[in-house]
Amino acid sequence: KEFGEISIKDLDQVAKSSFPLCMRHLFDKLREDHHLKHGGRMQLGLFLKGVGLKLEDALAFWKAEFSQKVGGERFDKEYAYNVRHNYGKEGKRTDYTPYSCQKIISLTPGVGDHHGCPYRHFSEENLRAALGRMGVGSHAVEDVMDKVRNRHYQLACTLMFEAIHSSSCDAGINHPNQYFSDSQKILQS
Ligand code: SF4
Repeated sequence: KEFGEISIKDLDQVAKSSFPLCMRHLFDKLREDHHLKHGGRMQLGLFLKGVGLKLEDALAFWKAEFSQKVGGERFDKEYAYNVRHNYGKEGKRTDYTPYSCQKIISLTPGVGDHHGCPYRHFSEENLRAALGRMGVGSHAVEDVMDKVRNRHYQLACTLMFEAIHSSSCDAGINHPNQYFSDSQKILQS
């Protein structure tokens, strides 16, 4: 398979193996609620574009979820534009870039929002639960929580990357799409 392209049928598998916590959380919430508010659709949508999901696949992916909540017709009317817009196919036709960690950490998610950086925006209790679900040991979780307490969110994410992949990440994590491609490089080697 060519690197830098991803199809819908591989999404669940790569979400488990190679999405950073911010994207894993949005992905799981979308699958659970069949809905995401605007901030979440932007953050996850642009990330998925960055990992190589083509526009037609992105439309099919979002529609499959949203139609379970709002119906396919409403998706076509109210949400499809947004997906095409992210791919530069509507409005000013800007090809929008996936958000960096710095940008995501600076966001201010409100009630009912699932975007943002979990290391920055989750309560300690929710973060611990989420880290547990990522399948790392309690020692690694404590190291991560230590970084979080010192507000080193990207270092916390880097430690998680290293714990999950049993591999060092010397450059550190500064972009969710970098997390993804570094992960895929390790898993495919
Ligand atoms: Fe996502 Fe970056 Fe936060 Fe990691 S540090 S969870 S990649 S925003």
